[in-house]
Amino acid sequence: MFDVIIIGAGFAGSVLAERFATQQNKSVLLIERRNHIGGNCYDERDDNGVLIHKYGPHLLHTDDEEVWKYLSQFANWDVYHHHVQAMIDGQIVPLPFNLNTLHKLFPTPLANKLESALLNRYDYNSKVPILKLKQSTDKDLRYLADYVYEKVFLHYTEKQWGLSPENIEGAVTARVPVFVGRDDRYFNDRFQAVPTKGYTELFKKMLNHKNIKILLNTRFNELMRVDGDKIFFLDQPFDGQVIYTGQLDELFNEKFGSLPYRSIDMKFEIVDTENYQPAAVVNYPNNYDFTRITEFKKIHPIKSITTTILKEYPQDYVPGKNTPYYPIFTEENQKRYEQYASAVKEVKNLTAVGRLAEYRYYDMDDIVKRALDVFKTFGE
Ligand code: UDP
Repeated sequence: MFDVIIIGAGFAGSVLAERFATQQNKSVLLIERRNHIGGNCYDERDDNGVLIHKYGPHLLHTDDEEVWKYLSQFANWDVYHHHVQAMIDGQIVPLPFNLNTLHKLFPTPLANKLESALLNRYDYNSKVPILKLKQSTDKDLRYLADYVYEKVFLHYTEKQWGLSPENIEGAVTARVPVFVGRDDRYFNDRFQAVPTKGYTELFKKMLNHKNIKILLNTRFNELMRVDGDKIFFLDQPFDGQVIYTGQLDELFNEKFGSLPYRSIDMKFEIVDTENYQPAAVVNYPNNYDFTRITEFKKIHPIKSITTTILKEYPQDYVPGKNTPYYPIFTEENQKRYEQYASAVKEVKNLTAVGRLAEYRYYDMDDIVKRALDVFKTFGE
């Protein structure tokens, strides 16, 4: 019998499996429905020899030294500063929208005027969420805000979420603020890197321990169920800790209704050219059904005469048909989620952790930190 059962082998489940196994010498059963570990961070080489991120681009960036040191036990790193550009009115310009973007898109006199308006109001190198900028009373700032909103945020957000920026929690669009500076990088964190051998190898190293047994291709409900305040494993009451990282509506048979998630149809293409685009990611806020194109060679450099790109087509999540990637942050969904979160609390040996289970927009570093903190509640 196992001391701990963990459902889901993404970062939340894998970090906790590693911690229980190595720090408390607990035996861990890690159940994963897919045929691989690593959750949505999973990467693999395609026919072209390019390391692709099967579930969309994953770029590790963090200011958290604990997270950085923890992950560094399982990987060597290649320093990598992520650059994203956006196709706006036929031009490819840096994102987040910054002072360089401004000068690329506007004639110099107007760009200078708008730059002055920004610098009069905000410190150099500050970050301003678009919905905040839109509330400006200054006429020039308001003009700029309306432009950026329309060209960068409105249609991308409608494609990505099926909602306008006003109808989704402000924190979502605030992830990509207007940047009152000239740093063209997508992130400003201290640590930015990709694992030299990829994420899948990092997970393999993390989970390679005699105390951890991994069951792939297995749905948790084939082995276990929650009944009242008890968990049953192979029809026997299970008193050890259970960590669940999947969707809570599934765990509780949708008793409060279904929790909406957003999915993406990931379409990979091998293109017969050495270089496809000027940055690893180019966003297409307008005019196309996809939101962005990632060229993986620019993340994991390799010499080859062809290149692999990924186009992302957002769509609703339909259980059994596609993958839930993002919780959809509306008040109504949050209320429903809270009902499920209360149900988790009724079961004393059950903990819900992760982007899906906590209905939170965790980045990779956030979820590693969260899992490390959750582990500390079990007594280190
Ligand atoms: N966003 C946008 N236009 C862009 C980039 C981002 O409107 O060109 C908004 C959009 O709502 C998106 C959110 O900002 O979902 C967060 O973007 P991020 O790049 O962080 O998304 P992720 O990489 O997590 O999918």
